[in-house]
Parts: sequence; structure tokens; C-alpha cells
Amino acid sequence: MLDGFQKTATRTGEIRNAPGKSPRKILVLFGTRPEAIKLAPVIFELKKHKSFQTVVASSSQHTNLLAPVLEIFKIKVDYDLDVMTPNQTPNTVGAKVLEKLDAVLADEKPDVILVQGDTTTAFAGAFAAFNRKIKIGHIEAGLRSGNLLSPFPEEANRRLISQLATFHFCATDGNKRNLTAENINEKTIFVCGNTVVDALHFILKNKKPSAKIKKLLAETHGLKRILLTTHRRESFGDAMAENLETLRDFVFKNKDVAVIFPVHPNPNVRTATEKILANRERTFLLEPLDYADFAALMKAAWLIVSDSGGVQEEAPSLGKPLLVLRENTERPEAIETGIARLVGGNLKRFLEENYADESWINSVGKIANPFGDGTAAKQIVDILSQIFNAKAQSREDAKNNMKVGNLKV
Ligand code: UDP
Repeated sequence: MLDGFQKTATRTGEIRNAPGKSPRKILVLFGTRPEAIKLAPVIFELKKHKSFQTVVASSSQHTNLLAPVLEIFKIKVDYDLDVMTPNQTPNTVGAKVLEKLDAVLADEKPDVILVQGDTTTAFAGAFAAFNRKIKIGHIEAGLRSGNLLSPFPEEANRRLISQLATFHFCATDGNKRNLTAENINEKTIFVCGNTVVDALHFILKNKKPSAKIKKLLAETHGLKRILLTTHRRESFGDAMAENLETLRDFVFKNKDVAVIFPVHPNPNVRTATEKILANRERTFLLEPLDYADFAALMKAAWLIVSDSGGVQEEAPSLGKPLLVLRENTERPEAIETGIARLVGGNLKRFLEENYADESWINSVGKIANPFGDGTAAKQIVDILSQIFNAKAQSREDAKNNMKVGNLKV
């Protein structure tokens, strides 16, 4: 028996009762840093809405990276499933989420569960809800790399959630097309933008960077700052070592360049970074940053170099050029609009070319963000509200199935 397998979820906060009659209950589930960042604006909007009662559950798939997000957005978790274990695998995480969330679903009986993206938490949450015939809203639906095995296991998680979801909230028209190509009913798909843009706007408006980051910005003033993040499984090993060596040599050669790298806690990243980048001039290795600090660094960057998904969606809002440390991306809009360039194994060439000729770097500030305008969460919550409050909804429909105009769900 796995340690803690039968432990029931802990309810850590009071659930707010919405005023008015029979509010619909929405359970919001997340487990990792990007999910929490992207669901924070949705939780804000839901809590503002009279017709919804919001329950927040965290699987805590990644506890250390998640905690600062909960802190900065003041998210109160009602149920902490506490699934994280050393050396966890998708199967250990998935099994625990299924078991522990099931108890919460049985107790709370939400009308809808909202899951975000493509983590094992999101898939297991959707599957647990499906097995209890609870409606599923999938936020950031329709991303596809086209390769079931890459990114692993995220591409499979996304596709599986699409098969189970009742409502698909897409960031872009391209995401919608990916779903209709898989015969998902068009009437259940809504293009709203990505909620990460809302989260970024909120943070830039409401939170100042810490003293530590202000000091770092002062210290690197006048330098061309490269902000680096890398943590994906596909980047581990030789590819990561090569990219880090390229950056080390590039910064060494060009005295007006600095690299700033919040180092992901994954041991594969830590070991390679320690070996290649530790104790080098104009090279700043940091612990993972809270969102306000990271946003301030993105804003102050000359160039962002990253294999992150979320960063591809954020860079355009800040007008920052991005080199994507990947062979392909399920966010082609970033490349198509010209804000980002796919580097594959050619980081050295891309760095040298864009240092010698900065015209691309200087031109991207004017590009509109293809991933949204900062209103995605409001749109999602308004759509849910319309669905549940539709005048045409009869009592019978409310019990068995719901209709909004032609939308039957
Ligand atoms: N991020 C952060 N602190 C950091 C590095 C990244 O808050 O030190 C944010 C970043 O702005 C983005 C999200 O974390 O919103 C991306 O998370 P990650 O790269 O772990 O996941 P991915 O987006 O690749 O799924």
C-alpha cells in the first residue's frame, strides 16, 4: 500500500456560500505552478459571481513551486490532496488524484469541475469527474503537438481530456480547429484567449518585484539581459548541457551580456547547471522566483530563452523576443506572429545572428498577443453563467441535460 494512499483529503479553508438561490458549485482543480497561475484569474472571477459557489482543490503535484503562486494570488485551497511523493511518476500521481479527488467529488457533488492544461492532475481530475458524471470544463483546450509521445505525457493528457470534457475553452482559433478536426462538437468549444495573459496583467498592475530582484536589475543595468528557463523532460541530458555551454560561451565572449536563470528544482536541471554555469561572470543563478519577480525579469529582458509553454504565451504581452528551446511547439501562434523563434539544436547560431543584427529583437514590441487580451477568465465565467442561467432551461433539462440555444451539453 502506498504511503498515505488512503488518507482522505484535508479541507483547509471555509467554502464561501454565494448569496441567492441554489448557486452552481464549481470545483477548480490544479496541481502545478502553471495551472495555478492560469486558474487564479478564473477563481477570482468565479468568486465575484453570485451564481457560483467555488471550491478549490489542489493535488499539490508540485508543492514547492505551487506555494508561492497560492501566496501571491491569495488563493485559499479548500482541499489539499497532498499527492506529491519523492520520485513520483505519472501513474503514482494519477492514482492518488483519482482516489483522493473521488472522495471530494462524492462529498461536494459539484456541478462542474474545471481543469487546466495537460498535467497528470488535470487528466486524472477529468477522469475522476467523468466517472461520477460531473461535467468537465477544460481550460486551454485544443493544444496539439501532433506527436502522442512528445511532450510526454502532456500530449496524451490533453487529447484524453478533450474526449471527456463537456466544455472546451480554447485560447486561439487554431486550438479550436484542432478540436473540430477531432470531431469535437463545435458548439461546445469557446475561444476566449489564454488566462495566463489575465494573470500577467494582474501581477504587473498589482505586485512590485522584491528588493532582491530590484538589486539584480540595478546590478545588470545597461547589460543585455538574457532570461533563461529550461525544465522540460525533452531538454534533459545532452541537449540541455549543449544549450547551457552555448550560453556560458556567449556570455563570456560578449561583455555586454548577462544571463539570469531561475533554476528549476528538477535534479537534471540542477546538476547540469551547477557543472556548467556556476561561478561565472555576469551569470546569475537564482532559486525559482515568485510570479511578480519573474514577470519583472521578463519585462527587463533583452531576450528570453525558454522551453516553457507559459512563457511563450506571456512574452508577446511584454513585447519580448523569445527563443524557444524546442524542436516543435504546440503554440505555433507565437512563431507565426514573429514574436518567437524555434531554436531546435541551433541556439549558438540564433544568439550570434541576433546579437550581430538586433532588428528582430527591436521589432517584436509591436506584435499583438495572439493568446488573448487579458479577458479570458471573465469570458469563461460569463459563458458558464449563461449556460447555467439560460432562460430556456427547463427543470427537466436542469436535472438531466442542459440547453443553451442550440448548445446541448
Ligand atoms: N514562472 C515563475 N517563476 C519562475 C519561472 C517561471 O513564476 O521562476 C512562471 C512563468 O511566468 C509561467 C509559468 O511559471 O507563467 C511557467 O511554468 P513552467 O515553465 O514550469 O511550466 P510550463 O509553462 O512549461 O507548463
